[in-house]
Amino acid sequence: MKSRSQNPKKSTDQGRRDDRESSDNSSLRKAFLDQLADVYNAEQQLTKALPKMAKAAQSEELQSAFESHLEETEQQAQRLEEAAQSIGESLKGKKCKAMEGLIKEGEEMMSEFKGEAALDAVLIAAAQKVEHYEIATYGTLIEWAKQTQNEDIIELLESSLEEEKAADEKLTEIAESLANPQGLED
Ligand code: FE
Ligand code: ZN
Ligand code: FE
Ligand code: FE
Repeated sequence: MKSRSQNPKKSTDQGRRDDRESSDNSSLRKAFLDQLADVYNAEQQLTKALPKMAKAAQSEELQSAFESHLEETEQQAQRLEEAAQSIGESLKGKKCKAMEGLIKEGEEMMSEFKGEAALDAVLIAAAQKVEHYEIATYGTLIEWAKQTQNEDIIELLESSLEEEKAADEKLTEIAESLANPQGLED
C-alpha cells in the first residue's frame, strides 16, 4: 500500500496539469477570437471588392456569380457577428493583411488586363485565391469550434464554408466554359 505522503505530490501534479489545460483553453479561445475577427474583416473587405469585380467582368455569368457571392458574403459577415455574440464576445477590430494583399494583387491584375480577352480568366484566378484563403480559415475555425463542442458556432461556420466551396466550384465551371485553347496558343 502506498503511503499517504505521496498524495500531496500527486495532487500538486494534478493541479499543474489543470492550470496548463485551462491556460491552453483560454489560449485557444484567444486564437479562435483572433481568427474570427480576421475573417470578419476579410469578409468586409470583400463586400467592397466584389462589386468592382462584378463591374469589371465581361461575361454575364461571371458578373452574376460575383453579385450572388456578394450577397452571401454579407450574410457571412453577419454569421460571424452571431458566432461571437453566442459566446458573449464582440469581434475586435482587426485588419486581415492577407485579404488586403489578395485584393491588391487582384486590382493590379484587373488594371493590367483591362480590355483584354483574358480579363475574365484573370478575375477568376484572383477570386479563387480569395475563396481558397477563406476555405482555409473557415476550416480551421470549424476544427477549433469542434473542440469546444459549440454546435451553434459550428453550424454558422459550416454554412459559410459550404458557400465558399460552392463559389469556388462555380468559378471553376465558368473558367472551364471560358477555356479557349486557341487563346493560349496566340
Ligand atoms: Fe466569404
Ligand atoms: Zn485573413
Ligand atoms: Fe489573415
Ligand atoms: Fe467567398
